[in-house]
Amino acid sequence: MPKFIDHSPPGQCIFCRLAAGEIPSAKVHEDALTLAFMDIGQANPGHVLVATRRHATTLLDITAEEAGAVMQTARRVALAVRAAFDPPGLTLLQANGSAGDQTVFHFHLHVVPRHDGDGVALSWPRQEPPAALLQDYAARLRAAWPAEAP
Ligand SMILES: [Zn+2]
Repeated sequence: MPKFIDHSPPGQCIFCRLAAGEIPSAKVHEDALTLAFMDIGQANPGHVLVATRRHATTLLDITAEEAGAVMQTARRVALAVRAAFDPPGLTLLQANGSAGDQTVFHFHLHVVPRHDGDGVALSWPRQEPPAALLQDYAARLRAAWPAEAP
């Protein structure tokens, strides 16, 4: 998989452009503060990224309101993933910068279905499914989206 490293300035980074609708993505959910979309590198089918809509680089850069909103969205993504894919496990990951092998410097969480019960192994190297498959996954999650946060 080609390594794409995005050091674009705020507002020009790939997640900012995605949030602005300037580039396409398989969106699962969006609201005033957050955006959830399929990761093009599916560690396991149903792998979703949850990002702040506003550009912020690390956990130290997001507001308290964004922190709460990101976790609420991640939780609802998890509920939708369980309803749509029913994986035996699910992992929530956050990593920043090159130390976390991250290539986009915009705060985000990874919601990753696991297929090995309690283990944390992912199916690396990651799959790069076609855009149509990502759109199908996103549609399944939107259909399974909880009507309100329980
Ligand atoms: Zn950004």
